[in-house]
Amino acid sequence: MENETACLRAAKRLSHMYFSPIRQVGERASALAGEGHPVIFFSTGEPDFNTPSAIKNAAIQAIQDNQTHYASNRGALSLRKAVSEQLARTIQLDYDPATEILITAGGAEAIQNAFLATLDPGDEVIVFTPAFMNYENLISMCGGVLVNIPLRKENNFQIDPDELSRHITGKTRMIVINNPCNPTGVVYQEAVLAKVAELAVRHDLLVFSDEIYNQVVYDAVMCRSIASFPGMRERTIVMNGFSKVYAMTGWRLGTLAADARMIPHLLKVHQYTTTCQPTFIQEGVAKAMNLPETLADMSQMVAAFDRRRKMLMEGLDRIGNLEYTTPLGAFYIFIDVSKTGMDGDSFASRLLEEQYVACVPGSKLGTHCGNFVRFSYATSDENIREGLTRIDAFLNHK
Ligand code: PMP
Repeated sequence: MENETACLRAAKRLSHMYFSPIRQVGERASALAGEGHPVIFFSTGEPDFNTPSAIKNAAIQAIQDNQTHYASNRGALSLRKAVSEQLARTIQLDYDPATEILITAGGAEAIQNAFLATLDPGDEVIVFTPAFMNYENLISMCGGVLVNIPLRKENNFQIDPDELSRHITGKTRMIVINNPCNPTGVVYQEAVLAKVAELAVRHDLLVFSDEIYNQVVYDAVMCRSIASFPGMRERTIVMNGFSKVYAMTGWRLGTLAADARMIPHLLKVHQYTTTCQPTFIQEGVAKAMNLPETLADMSQMVAAFDRRRKMLMEGLDRIGNLEYTTPLGAFYIFIDVSKTGMDGDSFASRLLEEQYVACVPGSKLGTHCGNFVRFSYATSDENIREGLTRIDAFLNHK
């Protein structure tokens, strides 16, 4: 009998991959909500806002205009031009729309393209943790070797360049940087990035820079792209996307910008996986993404995240025993719960089961993060207020 279904086995390359723990938390929380419980989701990394109207209208118009055929494999030229304009505005780097930009199915496909296109089995890839778990899983899928460098609360989750230097070997191929960082909300200091850049240049390493949150920053902090340091533009693959700052998670649109010599490698993978993103989406977004009204909608969203960030920090301070590094970017706060006498896993599961408040245990995001939980504050002011009341009840009135 067993042999008859041996055909259902997975390829060996999947053997170290795991399902997203964030989705698992979400599924349990949704199940509770389905049973009628008033669940508050701090677990999902998704803005509660809707896509800016100008983008929606332009995409509808593009369907009416029959923009429904294949686009270029690189992405519609109109969108590549608009993305190039955006990159010049946001990270002050010029990328040629004809040869240096690729449009992908969200940031997720962008990461996959980059790793599949550049990693050989045995290549070492440095990832600072806690981190977005796609890196680890996709490195594993490519046969790469994850080199985990833990970031510490005592160092405000900044990268320690000396520690980085100690982890570079003859097999190191790539460094992954996510700035601002999911889940810590940290924005890397310019001096730190400069040292990382120096090391990358000295050892001829590739850098994958996930900048999906780089327009979600607070307190006028400077979030500089590592690609903008001397010698870095040619060795950095800059990833960005529309899910977060444009509130477009369901549209599945991401971008890669890189040296013209790198793009054909990325294109090879992309061409044989997704071919191209929906043409009307690309044309609609190209028309509306840089319009003043769209940029105004984005600033309003960031202002709301900032307000919620402050509400959440104030509330956590009031409740007590919940320590965090002030997040300066993205929409996450990474909380050390050890002073409550619980670890992150029991804190998260009890908070969900007893108070119907969903958050992500840190143990899933970094091997040394068992005492942490991640909250996303991309949810309504009202949810944050009510969530804080329940956390207070959970910790102080039981
Ligand atoms: N990078 C990071 C750091 C993220 O947090 C996410 C989404 N959670 C992505 C990439 C992927 O985003 P998407 O595929 O929705 O564009």
